[in-house]
Amino acid sequence: MKLYNTLTNQFEELQPIVPGRISMYVCGPTVYSHIHIGNARPLIVFDVVRRYLMHQGYDVRYVMNITDVNDKITEQASKEQTSEALIAQTYTQSFFDDFTKLQNLPPSSFIKVSDSIESIIQYIQRLIDEGFAYQVDNDVFFRVEKIEEYGRLSGQVKADLISGSRVDIDPRKESPLDFVIWKSNANADSFVSPFGQGRPGWHTECSCMIEDTFSSLIDIHGGGSDLRFPHHENEMAQSLALNNHTLANVWMHNARIEMGDEKMSKSLGNIIVVKDLLHDYDPNALRLYVLSVHYRTPFSFRFEQVEFYKTEWERMQRTMVQLHVELDVQQAFNQKVDETWIDRLHGAMDQDFNTANVLSDLYAIMKSINAAVRANESLVMATLYNTVLEYSSVLGLRFELPRLSAKDRMLYSDWVDARESKDYDRADTLRSALMERGILM
Ligand SMILES: [Zn+2]
Repeated sequence: MKLYNTLTNQFEELQPIVPGRISMYVCGPTVYSHIHIGNARPLIVFDVVRRYLMHQGYDVRYVMNITDVNDKITEQASKEQTSEALIAQTYTQSFFDDFTKLQNLPPSSFIKVSDSIESIIQYIQRLIDEGFAYQVDNDVFFRVEKIEEYGRLSGQVKADLISGSRVDIDPRKESPLDFVIWKSNANADSFVSPFGQGRPGWHTECSCMIEDTFSSLIDIHGGGSDLRFPHHENEMAQSLALNNHTLANVWMHNARIEMGDEKMSKSLGNIIVVKDLLHDYDPNALRLYVLSVHYRTPFSFRFEQVEFYKTEWERMQRTMVQLHVELDVQQAFNQKVDETWIDRLHGAMDQDFNTANVLSDLYAIMKSINAAVRANESLVMATLYNTVLEYSSVLGLRFELPRLSAKDRMLYSDWVDARESKDYDRADTLRSALMERGILM
């Protein structure tokens, strides 16, 4: 299985640290608003990565953080004239709802920053003790100068970063690249620490929680490409400081979703909120859309495309219902899969998760199903049925398939008989009855 590693900028064979196991961490949301479609992309992409690893027999431990302590939450609380705790609670719940509705498997664990403050304080203390961080007033800064490799993850040279950094830098910093890992804050919702009352910096949360959870180098660290610098670079710098490793063997970054030619952002007012999309569209259609583009390729969000995938999904759903009913009535289910199609699934996914190719194959399988149903080749039908279910479990698609009662089966057989004997009135009546029961679509 080959993955594109953004740390080395090359395709690499996946080599689990512990054979048969994968440790995986993906940066989660800062909970101060509902998530938009751009935020949903990594959720779907890394869910599929994880599903495929599981499909290949790996025992995957998948962890995601929830940033529920942050200045953006403070701002939102004053805007909504409520408490920070309530903002964090409301949008954490909103995130969980969207996450689940998008048909993502629940991670092994979600970790909240608010539950990790003690260990983050200890982590910062260690950085200070070992000379990698320094305190000025009640703030603590990370000493970037001490990290030889700084800039490696984002492919930048330290000297360029320094000359390119902004002029209005905090004069208390030793170097313009130094970043804050503890920020003083007199707010009632902040925390007491040896450095004074305040809050941890965002970059420190993730590296500390990864160390806490996995206590070693992990296999895969994922997130959106916009996190590569400075967030991931800084996460890695702290790990190099304390543990002398790059935090993850493989760093994976998904490209962003744009709006026309613009970045999707709150300030531009061009946000597509996931909740609104889920109100109007089937989550399967949204997954088809997101997975139709390779995860490292940016794309522009278009409603015509969502409509297209909505229709596409409805067609697939109809095909699978019809197939399911035929197989049920004929009692023709079996356990076989079509090995050629399964090989193609592996072939595409083993090349850095080429979901676009997997989807083209899935559409081709749907055509074969229609042909097999017309020819009434029950063995082929059953094999393709299982194959589609295998594909859909990797892609996180979920067909709604009816459960037939004895009466349903009888009605269905009667309908087939009526059609064959050209009794169209009777066939129509039976057809309506079957449609009402969700057996025909
Ligand atoms: Zn992170």
